[in-house]
Amino acid sequence: VKTNEKDAEYSISSVIPGWFSEISPMWPGEAHSLKVEKVLFQGKSDYQNVMVFQSSTYGKVLVLDGVIQLTERDECAYQEMITHLPLCSIPNPKKVLVIGGGDGGVLREVARHSTVEQIDICEIDKMVVDVSKQYFPDVAVGYEDPRVNLHIGDGVAFLKAVPEGTYDAVIVDSSDPIGPAQELFEKPFFESVAKALRPGGVVCTQAESIWLHMHIIEDIVANCRHIFKGSVNYAWTTVPTYPSGVIGFMLCSTEGTPVDFKHPVNPIDDSKSDRPLKFYNSEIHEAAFCLPSFAKKVIEGI
Ligand code: SAM
Repeated sequence: VKTNEKDAEYSISSVIPGWFSEISPMWPGEAHSLKVEKVLFQGKSDYQNVMVFQSSTYGKVLVLDGVIQLTERDECAYQEMITHLPLCSIPNPKKVLVIGGGDGGVLREVARHSTVEQIDICEIDKMVVDVSKQYFPDVAVGYEDPRVNLHIGDGVAFLKAVPEGTYDAVIVDSSDPIGPAQELFEKPFFESVAKALRPGGVVCTQAESIWLHMHIIEDIVANCRHIFKGSVNYAWTTVPTYPSGVIGFMLCSTEGTPVDFKHPVNPIDDSKSDRPLKFYNSEIHEAAFCLPSFAKKVIEGI
C-alpha cells in the first residue's frame, strides 16, 4: 500500500459513520470498534499517523497508524503489567531503560519503585510525547519524575550505543512489528538488549497476542532462548481494547543471579500512594505465567 493510499484508508474507513474500526493486516477478518464522540487530534509525524479521539465508553483513545495504543479506561492493565512483572521480579532495580512508551505510562509505573535512581526512555516519535502530554495528563505524568531522561530517537540505534552491563531492567513498550517498531522484534535488537543488561538483569517486551500471533511469538521465543542465558518466560494479560482482548510479554534474564519471574521478590507498597495500583498485584503476577494448553505447547514445548 502506498503512503497516500494508506492515509486515505485510515481516515475514511476509521471514523465513518461515527465509529472507529481497527482494521489491520495484523488481524485480518476482524476489527474491534469504538463509538467516537469527537476526534480531538489528527496529525502525521515523520513516522506515523497520530490520532486522539474521545470514545463514548473508554475515555480518550490514542491511535497510531490506525491501531489503538491506549485508552484511558484500560491502559492500567498494560502499563502496570509490562512494568511490574520485570521490576517486581528482581531486588533493588536501580537503572531502567524504556524503549518506545512515548505516552509516559510505563515511566509513571517505573517511578513507583523507590530503589530506582535513573529512568532513561528512548521514543522515536516526539509527536507521541507531545500529544500524550496534551491529551493524557494522567499517563504522561510519568515525565514529571526527576529521575526521567527523555531521548528522542530510534531505540535500536540507542541500544547499540549503550555501554555493556548498564541497566538492571529494559522495558520494550513498542507498537506492532509493522512500521517503525519492526526491528524491535528482531534478533539483533534482542542481542543489543542482552548486552546492555547487567548479569542477572531483566527485559520485558511487548509480545503480541496468543490468539492472533502465535507465529510471531514462536520466533521471539526461539530468538530469546538463544540469546538470554538466564530465564525465558511468556506472560499475558487482558486489555479489552487490544485486538483479541489480550496481550503478552516476553520476560527474560541474562546469565548471573537467577531470576524466577513466576515468584515476585520485590512487591510494591502503594498503600501511601495518591495513585494506587489499579490492576497489578502479586497474585495476578503469578497467574500471568499460566498459559492455555495450546500456547503452552508452542511456547514451552509441553
Ligand atoms: N504504552 C502503550 C499502551 O498503553 O498500550 C502503547 C504503546 S507505545 C505508544 C508504542 C511506542 O513505540 C510508540 O509511541 C512508537 O512511536 C514507539 N516506537 C516504535 N518504534 C520505535 C523505535 N524503533 N524506537 C523507539 N520507539 C519506537
